[in-house]
Formats: sequence, structure tokens, C-alpha cells
Amino acid sequence: MDGFRRVLRYAAARQKFFARKLSGFRVDQVHRPEDLGDIFTTPEDIRNLPAEDFLCREPESVFETTGTSGGPKRVYFGYDEVDFSARYEAAAFYENGMRPGDRVVCTFDAGYWISSWVTYLACRHLGVFCSAVGKPQPAEVYDRLANYRYNVIVADPTWLVSLSEIAEKKGSFPVKLIFAAGDRMTDAYRDYVQRIWNAPVILGYGSTEMGGGAGMECAERNGYHVDEFNLLFEILDPDPDGYGELVVTTLSRRTMPLIRYRVRDITRFLDGPCPCGTTVRRIARIRGRRDEMVVMGAGNMYPEIFEKVLCDVPGLSTNWQVAVRQEGLHDILEFRLELSNGISTSAVEDAVRRNLEARYPEVWANQVCGMYRLAFRFASSGTLVQGRKCKRLVDERAE
Ligand SMILES: [Zn+2]
Repeated sequence: MDGFRRVLRYAAARQKFFARKLSGFRVDQVHRPEDLGDIFTTPEDIRNLPAEDFLCREPESVFETTGTSGGPKRVYFGYDEVDFSARYEAAAFYENGMRPGDRVVCTFDAGYWISSWVTYLACRHLGVFCSAVGKPQPAEVYDRLANYRYNVIVADPTWLVSLSEIAEKKGSFPVKLIFAAGDRMTDAYRDYVQRIWNAPVILGYGSTEMGGGAGMECAERNGYHVDEFNLLFEILDPDPDGYGELVVTTLSRRTMPLIRYRVRDITRFLDGPCPCGTTVRRIARIRGRRDEMVVMGAGNMYPEIFEKVLCDVPGLSTNWQVAVRQEGLHDILEFRLELSNGISTSAVEDAVRRNLEARYPEVWANQVCGMYRLAFRFASSGTLVQGRKCKRLVDERAE
């Protein structure tokens, strides 16, 4: 809270955007984030306003992040801030068993993304060998695994799956740890990758706005221990289970501090101590994006629900979408699926219905009592091509 008050006073004095937002507030009377009421920084603010509105000192680097719509968001840093963020990622790596003598290959997309750099610098802090090589074809890295004796892999989930498919055919190498972040890793992906490499897959969570890493799992693999040293977390408008939108304030950055930034991800705090002994707080796996939550006859729907329903249905490609439509006065939950290997549509429908009933009985019960209807639309493989961050769940009902 002390860090919060310090960055608040700093931003009130130096950040045009926040100073404008604060008009009418006495900053010396703000002690906790909640005291700011409905004052937030949103992704749209960062995307649409000039950088000068946010910069409090001369920047030394910039990273970008893309969303489902609109242009990139640009976040500026000093060298010291990127390096400082890497210290805490290094602590998380260490906690999970990374040690000098290990050899890391990191294949996070480089370009204007921050994660590759933070991982590289984290390895420097640990004195660990690291190749941060952008995002090459998995086959290129596979061919080098033996040569460079990599025993730790840091990569996006889908990239890891591709690498593992090669290893399944050609043989795997001794790997100690695998770290994944960047997009969503389903349990089915994780189980597959762990089986192929016989190594634990540890998930990280973060974003450019949060300075790269914001949290990482421990050996318990139950939620992310978050970086409370540099970030102050809030859960906005929690539901009865504690799930709400994650809001974060950057405590240590001074180039472009973000006050109460609306992350738009839905999660909750995990109460109680973690069996691993680490005392920093945990948040649950991300349930979905706030802008992808759809309230409908089936209940509050998140993309995660459909990932869990579709993950082990045979004959589906990874391109799929679920749409909420309206017919008359009724909600329709429409599965748009690509079939890959000649499976019959009725077999797929049956499997989806069975999974929904077994895994989300309340969602299923709402269907049985007529709150909504299920529908299916099938396409042949490759026709549902979507963007880099495709929307898994869309609401197409009239306003
Ligand atoms: Zn733990």
C-alpha cells in the first residue's frame, strides 16, 4: 500500500493522463486503490491516447501488445525497468528449480514483444546459459536440441505442442523443465507435452503492460504466484465465487506507470497458504477475457468452458468458435467446428453433448429446461481460419 501511495503521488505529479483523471480528488486522501472509485486506466486509453499522456520520464525502449481488435498498445520502459522485471522472473525460475549449468532455449516471439527479452535477462541474472531466438520453426530447434544440450524449454503452448509432435516421431531428449506462457494451454496440451518430454510443464502469466511476467506456477501447479513486489492486484466486481476482472497497478516503474489498469482477464485470488511454502499470493488460472464473457440462457459463459468441452473430441481441428445467437426469444449456443479426418457430424455432436453434460452439469441443466438450445455448424478443415488471437466465444445477438 505504501508503494501504491508513492506511485500514485508520482503519477499525479507527472502523468498527464492520470492527473486529468484525478481532477476533483485530493491525492493525499487516497490510501487504497478502492478510494479512487471508478478511476481506472483502460486498454483503450493506452491504444488511443498519445504516448506523451502516459510518459513520466524519457523512455529507453518500447514494446507492443496486440489485441482482438484495434491497433497495438505501446508500453514504454527504461532499461532498468526491463531488467528489474527480469529479476523477479528469475526468482520464479529459481523457485521452480532452474540453476546455473542449465541450458535454456526460449522461443517466445521476439519482435516488439517483451517476453523474450525478459526471459533472456532473467537467465542472465541466474547465470544460466540462454538462447532467446525469436520464434523459429519447431523443427529448427529440434535439430539443435542435442547440439546445444538444452534442458529447459520456454515457449508458447501451441509451439510446444508442435515441437512435441516432432519429438513423438523422432524421439525426445532429456529435458528438466518446460515453461509455457503466451496463450492458453489446455490440460490436454499440457498432459501431452509432459508425456512426450517426461518433464513438468510450468505455466507463467503476464503481459507487456505488466512488464512481462506477472506470475508463475510453483511445483503445486495450482494457480500463479503473483509478483506482489512490483504489482498491486485487485479483483473488480467479484461474483459469489470471487471471480472478477483483474486490475493491476505497477508499483516500481517510473517511465510509464499504470494506475489501476483494467487487464480484462477474469480470475480470482486463491485463499490460504500454498503447500509449496511460498508466501506471495496466488491467482487462479485465467478463466477468460472479460470482453469474451457472454451472459446468456446457459449462464455466464467463458471461452474456457468450451475449451474443456472440445479438447478431447476426436476429429476436430484446433480452429473452432462458439457463437451465441438469437432465434425469436431464445438463445442458441452454436458450435462452429472444423472436421479434420472424416468423422461423422453426428459422432461429434454426441461427444460434445456428452462432455457438456458431464463437465458442466449446470450449463447442461439450463438446456434441458429450455433456457437455450444447442446448434452445430460444420466446416471442412482450413475454412474457419482466424487471426492470431481469434475470438473463441462471440455474442451475435442483437443489442
Ligand atoms: Zn506454491
